[in-house]
This record gives sequence, C-alpha cells and structure tokens, in this order.
Amino acid sequence: MLIGIDLGTTNSLAACYRDGKTEIIPNRLGKNMTPSVVSVTAEGDLLVGETAREYGILHPQNMARLFKRTMGTDKTYSLNGQEFSSEELSSFVLRSLKQDAEVYLDCEVDEAIISVPAYFNEKQRRATKRAGELAGLKVSRIINEPTAAAVSCGVAESEESSCCMVLDLGGGTFDVTILEYDQSIMEVYAVAGDNMLGGEDFTLKLMEMFARDNQIDMTETDLKTLGNLYQAAEFCKCGFSERNPSVMAVNIKGMTYESEYTLSEYEEACIPLLERMRKPMEKALKDAKITLDDLDRILLVGGAVRLPMIRSYVQKLTGIFTEFSEDPDLSVVQGAALACAMKERKQEIREVILTDVCPFTLGTAVVSPYDTFADEERFLPIIERNTVIPVSRTQTVYTASDDQQYLRVKVLQGESRLANHNLLIGELTVEVPRGPRGQESAEITYTYDVNSLLEVEVKVISTGLKKKIIIQDEKNKISEEEAQERLERLSYMKQNPREEEKNMYVMLKAERIYEEASKEDRTKIDEAVQSFREAMGKGTRLSVDKQRQELMDLLDEIENKDIHVFRA
Ligand code: AMP
Repeated sequence: MLIGIDLGTTNSLAACYRDGKTEIIPNRLGKNMTPSVVSVTAEGDLLVGETAREYGILHPQNMARLFKRTMGTDKTYSLNGQEFSSEELSSFVLRSLKQDAEVYLDCEVDEAIISVPAYFNEKQRRATKRAGELAGLKVSRIINEPTAAAVSCGVAESEESSCCMVLDLGGGTFDVTILEYDQSIMEVYAVAGDNMLGGEDFTLKLMEMFARDNQIDMTETDLKTLGNLYQAAEFCKCGFSERNPSVMAVNIKGMTYESEYTLSEYEEACIPLLERMRKPMEKALKDAKITLDDLDRILLVGGAVRLPMIRSYVQKLTGIFTEFSEDPDLSVVQGAALACAMKERKQEIREVILTDVCPFTLGTAVVSPYDTFADEERFLPIIERNTVIPVSRTQTVYTASDDQQYLRVKVLQGESRLANHNLLIGELTVEVPRGPRGQESAEITYTYDVNSLLEVEVKVISTGLKKKIIIQDEKNKISEEEAQERLERLSYMKQNPREEEKNMYVMLKAERIYEEASKEDRTKIDEAVQSFREAMGKGTRLSVDKQRQELMDLLDEIENKDIHVFRA
C-alpha cells in the first residue's frame, strides 16, 4: 500500500487515499501529528514522537529534534552514547509512521510519497529518500511541500485557470511557490525560500524576550531549563491565536517567572523575522516573470501561519486577501495522499499533470584559458534555476591545458559566478587523448527527473567514451553491503513496543509533572501512579486502560491548573 508522508521539521504526518477521500492516519497515541523527535533511553531503547519528547524534557541531552534542518549534512546527534545522522533519525520517524499506518490500515505499507521543502537541495532530497529506504519504504516520489499543499487546497479542482502563490511557513522552513493551474495542468513557475526560517524562530524570539525581561542568562542555563523555557514560549506563542495578551510562565529551580506580552509588542520584536519573508517572495515573483497583479490567490499553509501577524504582514505587503485552511498543518500531507491517488490513477481523482521546477541552478566548473586568474574556476550553468522538470540539457567543455589527460567534471549547485562558492554535489573524471589545449571536448548532459534527482553523463567527442553518474555524495556513498549493514543496525535498535507506548508516555509525563508539582499534587500523582502500576502488574487490559486514563486526566488537570493560575 502506498501512503503520503509529510516529514516535517517539528511534526510528521501520514495520510492515505481511501474510498474516494484522503484520510489522516492516527498514530499509536491516537493523534494526527507525530512530533519529529527521537530519544534513546539509558537502556538503549529508541523512542519516537510524543513519548520521545516527553522523555527529552527530563533528559534533553538524549533527545534530538529539528534534525530536518541538518538533513544531508555530516552533522551527527549523540543520544545516550550512540551517534545518528539526520537521515537515520528521520528513518526512525518514518518507521514509526509506517508501523502506525500498517496497524490502522491493516495491511502492509511498503511505499510512500514523501514531501520535502521545495527549497531542499539535491543532498537533502537524497538523504530524505534514503531515510525512507532505511525505514523499509520504497519512496516512489518526492513531492515539494507547497505543490502538495496547493493540490490539497483544491487549486486543481477549479474549472478556471488561476495563478497562485503558496506560502508555507512550517516549523523550520519557509517556502514560496508560484504555480498556475490551467486545464488539468498544474505548472510550478518558481520556487524560493529560506531553509532557516520557521515557526521555531518565532518561539525563540519569545524565549529571548522572556529571558531579557526576567534577567535570565540563556547562555548560562542548563539544557533542562532551556527545554522548559522553550515549552513555555511555544505555549505562549500558540496562545496568541486565542487571546491577547498571552502569558509566558516558567518554573526554574522552584522560582516562578512570569511575563505577559501583547500581540503588538511581540509583533514589533518579530519584524526582522517577518521581513525575511519578503525576499523569497520577491525572488519567486521575479523568477516567474510575473507581478503581484497577475496573482489570483495567495494560500497560507504550515502550522506557523496560525500566528495572526503572518497573515496581516502578507496582506499588508501584497494587498491581496490571503486564504488559509482550518488545519494548515494538514494541507501538505493531504496533498501527498492526493498525489498517491493520482499516481495510482484513481478514477474519482481528476487527472492532473503536475509539473515542477528545479529550485537551484545546476552546472559545472570551467577554467577559461584566457582568464587572468587562471586558477579561478568559473561556474558554467547547465540547468538554470526554475527550469521546468523533467529536463535534460547539454553543454560542451574543452581541455584547458596542453597534453591534458583527464577531464574532471565537477557537478555544482548554486547561484555564484565562482565555482567554489557553490555546493559540490558530485564529481566525475574521464580520460581524453592528449593534444593542444582546446582540441579535445566533451559533452556534459544533466538530466533532472520529476523527483528532482540528478543524473550526469559525460561523453568525450573524439573517442565516444561515455561515463554516467547518478549523483551521490562521496562522503555518504555507501556500498550495497554497507547499506545492508546499516539497515540491520538500525532495525535492531530496540523500539519501544507499540502496545506499551501509551503506558510509557503517561509514566514519563507523570515524572515530569511531579517534579514541578505542589506537595498536595505530588501526593495525588503518587497515588495515581501506584494504582496504575498495580493494574499493570496484575490487572486486565480494561483495568490498565482505566487506571491509565485516570492518571492521564489527573496530569492534564494539574498541568492546566498551573496554566490557569498563571493566566489569572
Ligand atoms: P508544521 O511544521 O507545518 O506542523 O508547523 C509547525 C509550526 O507551527 C511550529 O513552529 C508551531 O509552533 C507552529 N504553530 C502551530 N500552531 C500554532 C499556533 N496556534 N500559533 C502559532 N504557531 C503555531
């Protein structure tokens, strides 16, 4: 079975297409969203999602989050003595979603369409695909998040043609996509974005304001306090959707700190962040060769657009009324599920052809023999950014010195004139016959497929010698054997049994709330934990469920009571 997955910076979701509609797949705790968080316990158990986050509040050093931001890089995360790359951590999240889907759908789930930010580069896309494979999923398509969002917002359902700008502000990334829908063809004109701007930055801003106002030095605070500050800031930020002012309160080493912020105060502090949304929007319009007047709709998606200031900023900037759905964080996964239906050519789905663009310029390095700075390599673009994909383009290059024996082809991605300022994503060497410089030449062909994955072929003109590479990061290049070994290592990471997840989650939550609770509440928690443990020790499933629910209700009550006190 094929499912759609939104592998988000903060939360991940899965959905499928069944009986003529998309369906969000609930996780083992019955929730739509699984936090993209991984923890490893002291016993070496692997935790994913809500349980991992709960564990991480008490043991922040053994929790990894926001790892999507370092996807495709060498960064590793150390969790209880074990090192993991972003790709591996993502594979745990994907594996957890796969398992939940299998239980929910009661069949094997072996294939997925995974969404990525449109602005994700080659390395990040490949790492995402590998993460899927490590989780035991065949990744049949990588779909750009805004394209998925536009599909789910019904852009493809309208009879009339329309030109749309999709602004997607998720937890960690901001994406702008301009697309046109016309007679069953949905064509992406341009994408732009900021990989380092998202809802998290707005949370961080509140943390900074709070630290300043309460004289807390964040550079001196321990990880656990930082975690508490983050939780409180997140709560206060989300509170603005319902109230103004919103209160932020944190208990640090027995002392309660509290500050109240009005929306306009917060907005003022966030101006530099809001301003960062402007440039990618301008760039996308410019690349699409259109003006604001050509836009029919602006769609806002991603959880962070719930912040009222995002909507008002975009409206003020563009003068266009913005649309947003009730559940902006479900749009992408629903679009991915619709893409599954399109792939499987479900009859109820209107046939839509999706055309996408490549987000970066792809090219190679050349040295001009007439250059004064002979060792300065110039960047020769082969596929310009925002070219419609799939695409295949060829450029001819010549030998740069006499008696040159090899032609080294660097595969680069980026927009700089200088080769070494762009990202090196692959390399290939071919042998050429010796001769005076400029005599020998080779054709370099770049082919970019619908999944935005690049293939490079070099053909030496005089000898007809051809060499092909499917780009793979040299450092990450792994042999079949290594891949198998890695897969086994990861699959033997003991994952907490699915059935026990709810129990573990509630116990971790009890531990956390106990630490912060008053004396009376501690007694109540103690008693409820005791009853729950007894039920687990000898009780039937029904009594375990009952005691767990009672403990959960108590913890929610204590947690909410504190919030109520602070708000009063
Ligand atoms: P996504 O990756 O699309 O799920 O977006 C996650 C981001 O949305 C996180 O930074 C959340 O803090 C943010 N978010 C979710 N709900 C709200 C809300 N009510 N107000 C402000 N931000 C929110």
